[in-house]
Amino acid sequence: MIGVYGGTFDPVHYGHLRTALEVSEIFGLDAVHLIPSATPPHRKTPHAAAIMRAAMLQLAVANHPKLLVDSRELQRTGPSYMVDTLKSLQQDLPTQTLLLFIGTDAFNQLTGWHQWQDLFRYAHVVVITRPSYQQQILAEFFSLRLTTDINDLAHSQAGKLLFQPVTQLDISATAIRDMIAKHRNPGFLLPDAVIDYIKHHRLYTPLN
Ligand code: ATP
Repeated sequence: MIGVYGGTFDPVHYGHLRTALEVSEIFGLDAVHLIPSATPPHRKTPHAAAIMRAAMLQLAVANHPKLLVDSRELQRTGPSYMVDTLKSLQQDLPTQTLLLFIGTDAFNQLTGWHQWQDLFRYAHVVVITRPSYQQQILAEFFSLRLTTDINDLAHSQAGKLLFQPVTQLDISATAIRDMIAKHRNPGFLLPDAVIDYIKHHRLYTPLN
């Protein structure tokens, strides 16, 4: 099974990295593809160029062979729709089961995503929750697909929905960008190699 973890990663931080590592172990994944969104359809244009966000991810995962930076969305034009990314992954890895990881914030907006029902044709969807998360009442489309058994995911190619608690670190890229803009030190929120890259390229400073 392959994990699919998309985001703007503007910049990548330990909240993302800890989640990716934890789900890779919990689900016994062969790899987790960290996929920077080139042109996110549902939010403002990221601050750093897509190629720089991918470069920062690459630095961040250097010592973690199961965490892969997948830049396929940088090769497409137009909005970076997840359904197109899953289709392309399925073509490249036809024998693999795909697990799409999304945060609860993203799950609450899921029905606004382009061709959102089709996400379940190509992948199982795993919603990453905080340990204290209270399950909400789900629409029928979701409740029909809900499982609480991880083993269910290995027994079918796609179409299940599972909620998985992970350790959540209270870190956001927005807070990191604000800190850098104010010349404060973001140390211990993201890898030093990423901080060095940000400094070198003068990212997230008021002039950029
Ligand atoms: P921003 O502050 O710019 O909105 P972000 O830090 O929320 O960015 P994204 O790149 O938008 O990061 O997030 C990508 C994915 O990572 C989303 O599914 C989001 O829910 C998840 N995520 C973000 N921050 C954390 C965190 N601290 N712990 C676990 N998951 C996170």
